[in-house]
Amino acid sequence: MSKGVLCLIGAGHAHLGVIDAIRKGKLEAERVLLVEPRTAMQYSGMVPGWMAGEYTLDQTRIPLAPLVEEAGLEWHREEAIAVSPTDRTIVLESERRLTFDVCSLAIGGAGQAAAVLGCDERLLDIRPIDGFVARWSILRNSANRIRDIAVVGGGAGGAELAFGAANDPAFDAHITLIAGEGGLLPEMSAMVRRRAKAEYARQSIRVIEKEAQFVNGSLAVEGEELPPFDLVVAAVGSGAPEWPARCGLPVNADGFLEVDEHQRVCGIPHIFAAGDVAHRTDSHIPHSGVHAVYAGPILARNLQAALKGRAPRNVYRGRGMDFYLLNTGRGAAILSYGPLGTRARWLRCLKDWLDRRWIARFTNPAA
Ligand SMILES: Cc1cc2nc3c(=O)[nH]c(=O)nc-3n(C[C@H](O)[C@H](O)[C@H](O)COP(=O)(O)OP(=O)(O)OC[C@H]3O[C@@H](n4cnc5c(N)ncnc54)[C@H](O)[C@@H]3O)c2cc1C
Repeated sequence: MSKGVLCLIGAGHAHLGVIDAIRKGKLEAERVLLVEPRTAMQYSGMVPGWMAGEYTLDQTRIPLAPLVEEAGLEWHREEAIAVSPTDRTIVLESERRLTFDVCSLAIGGAGQAAAVLGCDERLLDIRPIDGFVARWSILRNSANRIRDIAVVGGGAGGAELAFGAANDPAFDAHITLIAGEGGLLPEMSAMVRRRAKAEYARQSIRVIEKEAQFVNGSLAVEGEELPPFDLVVAAVGSGAPEWPARCGLPVNADGFLEVDEHQRVCGIPHIFAAGDVAHRTDSHIPHSGVHAVYAGPILARNLQAALKGRAPRNVYRGRGMDFYLLNTGRGAAILSYGPLGTRARWLRCLKDWLDRRWIARFTNPAA
């Protein structure tokens, strides 16, 4: 048994692999504390499918209580608001303090819709994702008043949410996807973009590849007002949570925690970070659920080394993980893998199988 108290802040995609290692006895500590206010982890990859009526909400979530019990964690169900690297304490919202020997942060990204587009009451940010899901559920009750929906953001999140919104059985709305001046799916290949555009045309989703902003209460692209929208869903990428920088932890120009190849916060060997909140200084690892999930088991091994007073040696390289399956909401999926881009119904079956299998790993001990 290792000496030392490990504290995990956040139980999202990146920390699931760590919790999994603890419950399987692959990571040992004197005590493991978990600071996380949510009772379930919302798996983002199934949210567009939930919107399209393909899943119930419960099928897209991992309840945390059974995992916490199995792993023997000490769960503090509130938010952390500060970390002190010098006296190794965490301050919680309730002002309680926890002491640790090794700490790991995976608190995800923060919404930045209002900062990017401007404030407006019709704006619905997809981050935090629980807030998005809760508001979308409520909006379903007044769906008959929502005739025109704009989805702003041309990355994978916005691209899939547009399909989800277009196929939500509660709504009968026109969908416009405003992809920004970088265009639709800028990080994917021309073949994927062609497939996606053909699918939007098939589903009568209008695509505008220009930058949008609220101007005098209307959404405008390049200064030109668009016809009014009843709802504007923003998937404009994740910003950095503010408090880690306020605590003096090293952050990059965008406010993300700077970590080395072992996920150690630069210059602080007993604090680690992974997932969307972290910025790797040694290589380019994009912020995505896939990378967050696959970095988890490697993070677990490095945390174990740190608890034993050894230097961590494992590196998450992210190779081969830049694949996406975009759910079209109509029984097919578009695969993006390197230069490849193809659309097929069997790819949707594959995505469904992968997603359900992943959820089952954490909800069904026999899986
Ligand atoms: C709609 C949508 C669809 C997406 N689809 C995909 C996809 O198909 N494929 C893909 O690869 N990526 C996808 N992503 C991106 C993916 O969701 C993120 O990259 C991923 O969630 C990052 O994981 P994480 O562990 O960093 O953070 P999260 O999974 O967001 O977890 C962060 C956790 O930290 C907790 N937390 C936050 N602040 C605190 C605090 N102060 N104290 C304690 N706990 C805190 C939160 O409650 C949360 O449980 C999608 C994102 C969205 C919004």
